[in-house]
Amino acid sequence: MVYVFALLSAVLAWTVLLLVWKVALMRRSARELERAEEIRRELGNNFCRRCNYCAPCTAGISIPNVFLFQGYLRRYGLEDWARGRYGTMPVKAGACVECGACEERCPYQLPIREMLKKVAADFGA
Ligand code: SF4
Ligand code: SF4
Repeated sequence: MVYVFALLSAVLAWTVLLLVWKVALMRRSARELERAEEIRRELGNNFCRRCNYCAPCTAGISIPNVFLFQGYLRRYGLEDWARGRYGTMPVKAGACVECGACEERCPYQLPIREMLKKVAADFGA
């Protein structure tokens, strides 16, 4: 009888543990979905596809790379890495002279000049 009771207690404890784990997983998934939706809203259609059709930049900015590092900074939580990589770029977003040549070549009609201003503000250069 004692053994049966001990066995039932163990099964019950295990079931509770499984339930707690499952609820924790569901909560995490909900948070991740929320974050994904937030990013989707923030990006809309204005995100760089890294095709590089906008090149060459008059000022020598590597346009797809600055947007890539900004993504790591703002969306992927890799701030130190993004700042480190951005710091190695010889020409920063802030060097844009706003000639508009890149925007004429971008097949996605991205407002590159405006986007670069945000990058410069995010990285401080
Ligand atoms: S052309 Fe547009 S989408 Fe392609 S790399 Fe340049 S900015 Fe990004
Ligand atoms: S608008 Fe700025 S980013 Fe675009 S080509 Fe001219 S200098 Fe380069």
